[in-house]
Amino acid sequence: MTIETPQINALNANLPTPPGERLWTAALEQTRSRSPASFEQWFSSVQYDGFETGVLSLTARDEFVRDWVKAHFLPDLLGHLARMAGEANPASLRVKWNISNGLDRPVCQPRRRNSEPPASIPPSSGLPSGRRSDRPSRYSRAQLTAVLNPKHTFPNFVVGPSNELAHAAAFASAGGGGPRYNPLFIAGGTGLGKTHLMHAIAHKVLDERPDARIVYVSAEHFTNEFIEALQHHKMDEFRARYRTDCDLLLVDDIQFLAGREQTQEEFFHTFNALHDADRPIIVTSDKYPQQLQRMPERLVSRFTSGLVADIQTPQLETRVAIVRKKAELEGIDLSDEVAVMLAQSVQSNVRELEGALIRLAAKSSLTGRQIDEEFTLGELAMVSPRRPELMSVEDIQRAVCGHFRLSNSDLLSKDRHKSVAFARQVAMYLCRQRLKCSFPELGRAFGNRDHTTVMSAVRRVEALRQRDPQVNAHLEAIEQRLASSEG
Ligand code: ADP
Ligand code: MG
Repeated sequence: MTIETPQINALNANLPTPPGERLWTAALEQTRSRSPASFEQWFSSVQYDGFETGVLSLTARDEFVRDWVKAHFLPDLLGHLARMAGEANPASLRVKWNISNGLDRPVCQPRRRNSEPPASIPPSSGLPSGRRSDRPSRYSRAQLTAVLNPKHTFPNFVVGPSNELAHAAAFASAGGGGPRYNPLFIAGGTGLGKTHLMHAIAHKVLDERPDARIVYVSAEHFTNEFIEALQHHKMDEFRARYRTDCDLLLVDDIQFLAGREQTQEEFFHTFNALHDADRPIIVTSDKYPQQLQRMPERLVSRFTSGLVADIQTPQLETRVAIVRKKAELEGIDLSDEVAVMLAQSVQSNVRELEGALIRLAAKSSLTGRQIDEEFTLGELAMVSPRRPELMSVEDIQRAVCGHFRLSNSDLLSKDRHKSVAFARQVAMYLCRQRLKCSFPELGRAFGNRDHTTVMSAVRRVEALRQRDPQVNAHLEAIEQRLASSEG
């Protein structure tokens, strides 16, 4: 039976990382996030040997692995790698394959078998409610530490309005103080820090209570393990691992259980057993519990019975702080201006923001150029030639004010006069459409308005644009203004 989600080895490497390897690691993360379990299965038989001058060198354990990885993973991976390396066309990258049965540094740790002896654990748990029996535990601390990204800790997590509740609740679940909710359900879009918080909880508990039996697993992996246990008549072991031998359960990406009725049933009983014993359960998801599709009502109601904390897209200030933090961790020298520029250009997803920074750093060390504003601007333009992404809320507000002959303070004021209110709504609509800002972020940028106000403004202008030619004419004129200021 397989056990945990192995960690990509390259992430564990000590800094400084060579530039080619940084690009490779970032591209790999993107590919892995699509299907972690099968990725791990194949990439435990593949080794990364280098990425230089457009040539990626890999070793596969045998031809079968090479052909599978070539067919199923390489197109996606090379696409990411090309984008990060600033190549327009993935076909310009070459892949050099070696075949070798003995891999020193496989990309993922090979899966462990249950026949291996479990790592020793101290006899008693620091957690209050864990009752131990004399039989050998299924728990292995070594497996846990192998899957945790050492950089995903609480000190490395930047807290801002978009994630403060999730952060505080995660910190409390790890024994950091404050009310502890059980379960804690963390909901948020992709690349916004859910897995980071899960790892941070595990690191903190592990540091403070080394004998705590923590199980961190993706829902996909839980499913695969469950199926294997059923097939091999090892349900007792499976249940021991998740129920009796577990003091803290972290399940990532629970949306994966959608429609998997038998696994849902098993998870429901796992959940109840732990919850009844007052052991913390933390779950992440890309949707709120009520939005989870093909999930039985009794599970949804369990998920909402503790605290549901969401993570939204971070605002500009938080994104700048994240860029600074990542640069510090990676040993990348970055001016404040460049940090702001990056944060302005990548708005939706922290993983992509991180990818942009790593790409910049790699390109800079490959070409020997300093990461200054000019260099950054050029690189950003290459990745996303659409200038609107470099545009700010202020640029749009300025264009709208210019068109309607209003001052900026009118636009941000509480003035409800029809013409001012209309201009404000138009500006909100354009910001939403062109900058993809979140509603709360726009609320703050428009004189601290509630996000529901922004939402209805955007919808109103959207609808008006369809049916009112005059409104459409206003919008086109402003868009022209923006286009000419871009050039
Ligand atoms: P998710 O699980 O929500 O898809 P991850 O936790 O994998 O996202 O985060 C993607 C990347 O962004 C990780 O490298 C993580 O460290 C980083 N990240 C996200 N949010 C933050 C934050 N608030 N502070 C620092 N890094 C962050
Ligand atoms: Mg995740």
